[in-house]
Amino acid sequence: SKEDVQAFLKKNAFVLFTVGAVIVGIILGFALRPYKMTYREVKYFSFPGEVLMRMLQMLVLPLLVSSLITGMAALDSKASGKMGMRAVIYYMTTTIIAVFIGIIIVLIIHPGKGSKDEFGKQQTIEQVSPADAFLDLIRNMFPPNLVQACTQQFKTRYGKRKVHVTVTVNDTFFNSTNGTQEIMEITREEVIPVPGQVNGVNALGLVVFSMCFGLIIGNMKEQGQLLRDFFDSLNEAIMSLVAIIMWYAPIGILFLIAGKIVEMDDLTQMGGQLGMYTITVIIGLLIHGVLILPMLYFVITRQNPFIFIAGLLQALVTALGTSSSSATLPVTFKCLEENNKIDKRITRFVLPVGATINMDGTALYEALAAIFIAQVNNMEMNFGQIITISITATAASIGAAGIPQAGLVTMVIVLTSVGLPTDDITLIIAVDWFLDRLRTTTNVLGDSIGAGIVEFLSRHELRSKDVEMGNSVLEE
Ligand code: ASP
Repeated sequence: SKEDVQAFLKKNAFVLFTVGAVIVGIILGFALRPYKMTYREVKYFSFPGEVLMRMLQMLVLPLLVSSLITGMAALDSKASGKMGMRAVIYYMTTTIIAVFIGIIIVLIIHPGKGSKDEFGKQQTIEQVSPADAFLDLIRNMFPPNLVQACTQQFKTRYGKRKVHVTVTVNDTFFNSTNGTQEIMEITREEVIPVPGQVNGVNALGLVVFSMCFGLIIGNMKEQGQLLRDFFDSLNEAIMSLVAIIMWYAPIGILFLIAGKIVEMDDLTQMGGQLGMYTITVIIGLLIHGVLILPMLYFVITRQNPFIFIAGLLQALVTALGTSSSSATLPVTFKCLEENNKIDKRITRFVLPVGATINMDGTALYEALAAIFIAQVNNMEMNFGQIITISITATAASIGAAGIPQAGLVTMVIVLTSVGLPTDDITLIIAVDWFLDRLRTTTNVLGDSIGAGIVEFLSRHELRSKDVEMGNSVLEE
């Protein structure tokens, strides 16, 4: 009936707006492509998207810190220990499954055909040894300066930037006495790929600190009450801010997606190996996200995984639009707590940690991409090398920050570990912006399903804690 339709629309307005935004964004993007906007025009056009990105990022720091501290403080150390173990086991298992899928799929489809001819020009990539990268991971866990940890800069994004190039032609033939002579100078505008810097927070360091801090103030008696109340109230306030931003999110997502489509290169090489590679990654991510994770959820909780995923739709679309799991974090919280009714003591712990270290999509991607690069170089990996790739891909996904294209950078570790040329990362840069969005969506899905599973497994502890506290803990 008409009332039913109205009620449905009202209830699902957000979701409809968000999905509508993606569709309109894609259409608008393709419609504007023929106009060949300049770099500056694209930046103006996608400005509403940039603003959304900044708003979400603005909340990450206070949200991450306050949710983890209150999450840890709400449970006694035994209960949080158990819950933490479950979360870690879930993270490790799903990451290893993801890596495994990536490897199997790329070996079966074999998108790399042993030649680099069809790829564009290559650039030089900074070398990082696996040992240094590993030490950096540990270093990041213990930031010497907490204030600095809140303003860390990441050198990760391979964007395109217009630069003015001055070409000077030297001629030594006519003027051999003093070496060179400048005979002409032209200035032209050229688009070149450059590694850029992304502002962010050292999430890993803040996670470690906040967990310890939360545990400590949770164990303190009355003296800890002030801090517990403070962070609890901070967390509630931030979540109310998230609710406001959610209204703007569809507009931002529309322009993020449209702007990216306007700006992307013509994918003329997509017919060849790069196209096959893209399809291989998509298949791998689909197997993991649509098959394996839902199955795992069903086997453990005996509930319909797709109803659970439907509640997450907005977070998934935000991940697709922002290609950053940490920028998506506020929305993930909202979806899980409000739509899927996951206990806050779980989300507050599982989500920030998950967004920082649990990246199934990235792990799958790194292993797959490394083997693809081996194939392009006509190198077949032996069993030992494949094991090395799976270990380093897991480490690289843990080390990758939840920001756009971070996975591309940590891939250096995977490649060097098996002696593959790191400069070949540039072979896949052309499609990475797109694959990044898909793997970010998979990452967010993995974290969210993890929250559902950990809550189910921890139901006894949660209940006994409720009883002990007279059911007053963190209830609205
Ligand atoms: N962009 C991804 C994320 O935020 C990380 C990656 O580059 O794989 O989850």
